[in-house]
Amino acid sequence: MSLFQIDFGSGGKEHKVIGIDLGTTNSLGAFMDLTGPTVIPGPGGNPIVPSVVSIPEHGEPIVGWPAVDRLISDPDRTIYSVKRLMGRGVRDVQEELKLFPFHIASGSDQVIQLSLGGKRFTPPGISALVLRQIKKNAEDFFGEPIDHAVITVPAYFNDAQRQATKDAGRIAGLQVMRLVNEPTAAALAYGLDKRENGVVAVYDLGGGTFDISILKLHDGIFEVLATNGDTHLGGDDIDNLLLKIALEDIASEWGVDLSGDSSAVQRVRRAVIEAKHQLSSAPSAVIALDLNGKSFRRELPRDVFEKLITPLVDRTLAPCRACLKDAGLTPDEIDEVVLVGGSTRIPLVRQAVRNLFKAEPHTELDPDEVVALGAAVQAGILSGHVPDKLLLDVTPLSLGIETMGGVVSKLIHRNSTIPASASETFTTAVEGQRNVLIHVVQGEREMVRDNRSLARFDLKDLDPLPAGMPKIEVRFLIDANGILNVTAKDLRTGKAHSVDVKPSYGLTDEQVEAMILESFSKAEEDFAERQLREVRVEADRILNAVDKAKGDDAYMELSDEERANVDRCIAELILAYHGENHHLVHEKMDQLNEATMKLAELMMNTAVQGALKGTKIDA
Ligand code: ADP
Ligand code: MG
Repeated sequence: MSLFQIDFGSGGKEHKVIGIDLGTTNSLGAFMDLTGPTVIPGPGGNPIVPSVVSIPEHGEPIVGWPAVDRLISDPDRTIYSVKRLMGRGVRDVQEELKLFPFHIASGSDQVIQLSLGGKRFTPPGISALVLRQIKKNAEDFFGEPIDHAVITVPAYFNDAQRQATKDAGRIAGLQVMRLVNEPTAAALAYGLDKRENGVVAVYDLGGGTFDISILKLHDGIFEVLATNGDTHLGGDDIDNLLLKIALEDIASEWGVDLSGDSSAVQRVRRAVIEAKHQLSSAPSAVIALDLNGKSFRRELPRDVFEKLITPLVDRTLAPCRACLKDAGLTPDEIDEVVLVGGSTRIPLVRQAVRNLFKAEPHTELDPDEVVALGAAVQAGILSGHVPDKLLLDVTPLSLGIETMGGVVSKLIHRNSTIPASASETFTTAVEGQRNVLIHVVQGEREMVRDNRSLARFDLKDLDPLPAGMPKIEVRFLIDANGILNVTAKDLRTGKAHSVDVKPSYGLTDEQVEAMILESFSKAEEDFAERQLREVRVEADRILNAVDKAKGDDAYMELSDEERANVDRCIAELILAYHGENHHLVHEKMDQLNEATMKLAELMMNTAVQGALKGTKIDA
């Protein structure tokens, strides 16, 4: 099944597109070749570029591993975890900032500006430096310019955060062909789209963040059912725990407290991280430090390590349960579990996931490469390397509202990538209407009665105005979690009302499929009925207007014959109205319009004269 026309935007010229995982702790790029997705090695062969940037006093910015070293030697000019600040306002990040050593430049309150060694940077500007490094690695590797990329973002990123990520790409000289949700990328890397239908849980424990996402696949399209997590939980917490213990051990063994010496602390931190990594594959590891002629060795068996980190691992479980609940699923309804993030190498973490979902998680791919590999799969599709369907996070069914005549006005169409938003302005059909009923529906059919009703609410207490005068803006916003927010606003008074609904709630794959198929088979019938309904609304309006005009003095100025003609046209329109032929209604409407032309002119003249008189008096 092909879902979208892909616009290559290059007039057919093929260009390489790389996939990039722009992570909080680490970033890396990957590409698609004939054998499948492969990571792009950096200068020393390592594909990972730590998301750390240092701005030296003189010379070019330093990015990646060399910048990590400068976290200690030049902390004021070195920035990490900038992803936490992407697309956010100064007020959103007050809590985050308490944990950061760097500060926001004064005078910037809407847009975050970081001051690094006297220079100002925005979060996208910093992220761009990381992206530029990956772009450079790719160019060195391929020996040709690379300027197209697919970049991944957390599923919960909102519009602003996504936009900021795109901006970062642009600043780095990359055309961002698509943003893909990280869990979707992970599922793509494992080729889970091939299974067509099913539910996938993606458990992502990285350096500083934990994300759990539940994706639903229908016909190879991923929909994010729910996401949850903890923005401050990850490998860093384990490092801090081990660091504290190591510093205490060193203090008691050497009689020296190193905790005030930041460069020594950094050495100890590296030693414990090294041991942590070894423990993922070995039953025991040694925390080793040689400093100032002294030597420290502490054996750390895996079972002791596991006891220490159990509370941290357990902290991932509550978000998982909440996520399942939001998705309306039980653990045994999950078909596949995918592990993402360097910290899922830890055997205890894998065991916890296994216990919770009662399933063997996918671990075949490197957990810190899997997101980049999935981005490369999407990149391959976009560059035409993978002759396959396009896989996106999309709305499975169209969303719209009921309008006059019981017809649906669609705002967000089926297969729109999410998050998505749309707005349209509607008006009233009845004189002095005080309430407007907003009826939100889902489905592909033209008539409201053939769709699924999602929500109804009233926009109340409008100022009574003539029909057609009020302007009611209806705005649909579907976020990355698939939650639909509907807001109706009276543009004249600003009065608004909104609701949140979960369109996918309680909907099975079979139902979605049936709804789509039905819309195809009933398309012609539906279209005819819609036309009839719409023309009837129009006819109602005209009949009402003529009825009113007949009460006007001007009506008596018409000849008997003219008046008889109006009445005949009215009668014929009413007859056509109750028939099934919308063409005939149109025809009769035109005839009535013509028969009342003179009347309209007479009324208009009176109105203009009245208005002119009014001006004179005022003047
Ligand atoms: P992010 O997505 O936040 O950028 P990553 O997925 O790259 O982060 O994960 C980084 C974390 O994974 C770090 O805390 C790192 O120490 C940890 N990690 C990497 N390899 C291992 C390993 N072999 N065992 C345990 N933890 C590991
Ligand atoms: Mg990650």
